[in-house]
Amino acid sequence: MHPKKTMYARLCFVLTVLLIALPLSSCKKVPLGEAQRSFFCMDTLAHLRVFCESEDNANLYADDGMKLLHELEALLSRTMPGSDVSRINASKGTPVPVDSVTAELIREATILSGLTGGAFDITVAPLTDLWAIGKSGESPPTHAEIEALLPFVSSSAVIVAKGVEGDTVTLPMGMAIDLGGVAKGYALHALYERLLANSTASVVSLGGDVCLSGQKPDQTPFKVGLQDPDDLSGTLGTLSFSAVVSPVFIMTSGDYERFFEWGGRRYHHIFDPTTGAPAITDLRSVTIVTANGVVADVLSTALFVMGLEEACAYWQVSNLQFDMILVTVGQKIVVSEGLLEHFTLHAPYSLETLSRGS
Ligand code: ADP
Ligand code: MG
Repeated sequence: MHPKKTMYARLCFVLTVLLIALPLSSCKKVPLGEAQRSFFCMDTLAHLRVFCESEDNANLYADDGMKLLHELEALLSRTMPGSDVSRINASKGTPVPVDSVTAELIREATILSGLTGGAFDITVAPLTDLWAIGKSGESPPTHAEIEALLPFVSSSAVIVAKGVEGDTVTLPMGMAIDLGGVAKGYALHALYERLLANSTASVVSLGGDVCLSGQKPDQTPFKVGLQDPDDLSGTLGTLSFSAVVSPVFIMTSGDYERFFEWGGRRYHHIFDPTTGAPAITDLRSVTIVTANGVVADVLSTALFVMGLEEACAYWQVSNLQFDMILVTVGQKIVVSEGLLEHFTLHAPYSLETLSRGS
């Protein structure tokens, strides 16, 4: 072929490739936008950070996300008048029509109550009222006061029904529910599924509970600090994830969040449903890491109630897929094997690994 013709053919080829490649590359999502919101919701500080292909979309997701969290709070709050939970608790034994979200969550919570051998139980509400920890409570109630309420603590008595007119919840007289141990996990999961699954990456926190998804545009890892129970201004370690394929929920329960001290003892806000008192446990905190927000929230509370030995045994045999970090009263940290590559300890605690079958 004539050299000029060859050059011309090459040029045509290059141009054609460029023309094909350009629209293709402009279709690929290029993360350009980021939006952040901080606000008060569900009794704690919420922080939302969204990465998207455009600034406009990131802002849209952030605003919609904020709205969704407030909507869920208005259904699930125990203190907001008119919320589904407030109406259920005031129902005196009659069926209460509720939003399908409330029904779904109560159904899941009661199933998980069974799966945790009753360590998690949303019907602890009369006890949380009696003790009023983190509110007006300053001293323990009497044994008789506690005993009088124990018959009303039983998840299996909660009836969630689906009728032609929608969902209803019925509670026997004298019983009440408190979704404080599960609502944040549910809300974070709903937010991910309904909105943030479509973003490039997101980090949402409700207090110390976090949901991560995607991969940050600058490729740096997500880092989440683990609260030091002895030093509330510091962390005792960091969890780090570079890219998150499905969402990751990191949820913690501890004895340092809400408590009062009396007679040299700490009375915290996580109850043992069998004794009616704050759980007597050798754990300071439990962090659960898993792909389901409700499971993460429920298990952080339940394993805290169980204590170190039972929590480790539970991890070995449970069909629920999760990893955990247990902080004990003796400044020991137990990390299940799935988290080893993600966890860095930076406090003088001794570290133990929990492996399958060990
Ligand atoms: P927080 O939400 O305060 O970060 P948790 O997830 O551990 O911490 O939830 C604690 C809350 O759950 C308590 O404030 C109370 O409302 C409720 N709760 C306490 N004990 C139990 C329990 N054994 N089962 C279910 N809910 C509980
Ligand atoms: Mg919890």
